Amino acid sequence: MPWFGMDIGGTLTKLVYFEPTGMNRKEMDKETEVLKNIRRYLTRNSAYGKTGRRDVHLQMDNVTIRGRRGTFHFIRFPTTEVGAFLQLARSKGMAMLVNTVYATGGGAFKFEEDFMKEVNMRLEKQDELDALVAGLLFVDARNPCECYYWAPPDDRPVHEHSSYKITLYFVIFIGFYHSADTTLSQSFPFGMRGLDRALHAGPVSIGGSSMTAAAVAMTISKADGLTYSEPPYSEEALSLYVKKSYNFTNPYPFLLVNIGSGVSILAVRAPNDYKRVSGTSLGGGTFLGLCCLLTGCKTFEEAISLAASGDNTTVDKLVRDIYGGDYTRFGLPGDLVASSFCQMCSTERRSRVSREDLARATLVTITNNIGSIARLCASNEGIEKVVFCGNFLRVNPLSMKLLSYAMSYWSKGALKALFLVHEGATEPKNIQCGALS
Ligand code: ADP
Repeated sequence: MPWFGMDIGGTLTKLVYFEPTGMNRKEMDKETEVLKNIRRYLTRNSAYGKTGRRDVHLQMDNVTIRGRRGTFHFIRFPTTEVGAFLQLARSKGMAMLVNTVYATGGGAFKFEEDFMKEVNMRLEKQDELDALVAGLLFVDARNPCECYYWAPPDDRPVHEHSSYKITLYFVIFIGFYHSADTTLSQSFPFGMRGLDRALHAGPVSIGGSSMTAAAVAMTISKADGLTYSEPPYSEEALSLYVKKSYNFTNPYPFLLVNIGSGVSILAVRAPNDYKRVSGTSLGGGTFLGLCCLLTGCKTFEEAISLAASGDNTTVDKLVRDIYGGDYTRFGLPGDLVASSFCQMCSTERRSRVSREDLARATLVTITNNIGSIARLCASNEGIEKVVFCGNFLRVNPLSMKLLSYAMSYWSKGALKALFLVHEGATEPKNIQCGALS
């Protein structure tokens, strides 16, 4: 019997096929014609019908399980096509093999009878979260560069970039302010008003070198709770992020955020010690469903490509749209989204919004919501490593970078967003450590 495992999810069915390699003559002779045909069909093609795909670049060679060496093939197709899959399996003679297949996901329950009826296949059901944790640990142990993160340009947590910038801006500002010897408050944007007030009212002596000015500025900035940053979603900043491999040999504890059709969040403390701490129904299925509604797109790939060239600031209301600048009292930069989709209340704005902008806003809304929930869970559980997985991240570097930025920025560098090659990597086959970026 070929070795299969299935995850029949809400949107996608994932099929793993283990192809034993190095079979001896006796084993080859024993392999029935049906098995040979199935093996040939699966391994010689990378597309099955209109919607089935084998992710050749994710294939894992030379893996040993239960004493057998072989290759793992990863195949996926929409769960709506389970019926067509069963017909195909039947036409390949699957029903003639009395067999049992390990299966997980809701579909293992929903389609149990269909599998038995169509291809005489018994589904040995496994819990999907057990399978998720075990699968992650299994793949990570066999692929030394499975785990990676998106590093900001010089690999410092984003809040450090920000505080460096704060210092620089304040040094320039105070130097300018001091030498100008006039009240410049009117000419400065809203975000500077707090400082201006402090300079006039406070017992702060401004003078001497720019170092003193910087120190004063930092004190004021701290006292006022100011936290400036680059625009969180600046295209330029995000484009500079690079992938770096992460050593996940001592993983515990970690938070596992599985973004499939919906989202499940697990706190994992040991291989067999985890709990589901939270979840949200606003997941990858929501993104795709809303995108199809709003833009008329037909596929996930199309939705992602629209989002990649869109601009969410024409759709969302930002802090600066409400405050005219930053909301300094609580460290909220002007470029932060204050209300997702709020601009769409205006008929005039709706009439000129593009499909790309709508797709981008949908992606940002869903991603940021998941990021916020993940951050709260990490803080509740006292966990610093947050691993994101699930097919929502497939061909979707934008969401990964947004999550990386958000995790680091809002936790002041305490949280690290991690990702997995077998959940979203688009690189060619045989991904090597150190060759990720
Ligand atoms: P599930 O097990 O619930 O199906 P997955 O981890 O497979 O969850 O993720 C499903 C999500 O992945 C979809 O909701 C969508 O956001 C995204 N996705 C990625 N690739 C595709 C695709 N080819 N077709 C549909 N959705 C896709």
